[in-house]
Amino acid sequence: MIPPGKVWLVGAGPGAADLLTLRAARLLAEAEVVLHDALVDEAVLALAPQARRVAVGKRACRPSTAQRFINKQIVDAARAHGTVVRLKGGDPMLFGRAEEEIEALEAAGIPWEVVPGVTAASAAAAVLGRSLTRRGTARSVSFITASVGEGEAPNHAWIEAARGTDTVAVYMGARQLPALAAALVAAGKPAATPLATVANASLPQQRIWRGTLGSATEAVLEAGVPVMVLIGAPAQGRLEQAPGGAEPSAMEHAA
Ligand code: SAH
Repeated sequence: MIPPGKVWLVGAGPGAADLLTLRAARLLAEAEVVLHDALVDEAVLALAPQARRVAVGKRACRPSTAQRFINKQIVDAARAHGTVVRLKGGDPMLFGRAEEEIEALEAAGIPWEVVPGVTAASAAAAVLGRSLTRRGTARSVSFITASVGEGEAPNHAWIEAARGTDTVAVYMGARQLPALAAALVAAGKPAATPLATVANASLPQQRIWRGTLGSATEAVLEAGVPVMVLIGAPAQGRLEQAPGGAEPSAMEHAA
C-alpha cells in the first residue's frame, strides 16, 4: 500500500487571488487535488491548473454537503494522492470547521498542516481604512457568529462577547442582521454604535454600507454574497474615502 499523502488546510483569503500567501500559491501549484469551498474565487483556483478540483462548499441557501461527507472526501483524496490541498475561504482557523477535518485526518493517520490566510474581518477593515483596534479607544476585538448549525441549540454567548468588546466582527451575520442588531441594543449596546457591512471584501464587486446598530434594518444586502459586519468605531470608515462626502448610510461602490 502506498503511504497516504499529506493534506494542507490552506487559507484562500477573502477573495482576491493576490491576497493569498506565497506558501498557499506554491502548494496550489503542486497539488494533485484541490478540495475547495464555494466561497473560493475562480482566480484562486486558476493557480492550480493541473489539479483535480472538488467543490465541497457549504453555503446558506445553497445545496449543502454534510461536513462528515467532506471529511471522507478529504481522507479518500489523501489515500490516493501525494499532495492534497483543502482550500478554505479566509483563514482556516476562523469559522472554518478546520478542527473537524483535522480530527478526521488524525483518526485516519494522515499527516496534515495548516497554512493561515487573510481573514474576512481583516479584509473588511482594510476596505474601510480603519483598524480593528486603536490605541486608547479600541483595545478589544471579538470575532463572533450568531449562526448555529442544523440541529444545534441556539447559543447566545455571542451577545456577551459582542457587548463586552470595543470592535465586533460578525461572520455569517447578513441574514440575521436586523435580529442581531436588535439583540445587541436590547443587551445595552448603544443604538448609535457605528455598524458597517462590507460585501465581497477585496473583490471588484465589493460594496460598503454604513449606518448604526439602530439603523441596521436599512442595510441593503444582496443574498448569496459573503458579508462582513463590523460594529464599533472602525465601522465609521474614514470620511475622506466616501465619494463626494456621501452620507454615512449611503450605499457605496468601494472600488
Ligand atoms: N474562514 C473564513 C470565514 C468563513 S465563514 C475567514 O477567515 O474569513 C464565512 C463568512 O465569512 C461569510 O458569511 C462572511 O461573513 C465572511 N466572509 C468571507 N469572505 C468574505 C468577503 N470577501 N467579504 C466579506 N465577508 C466575507
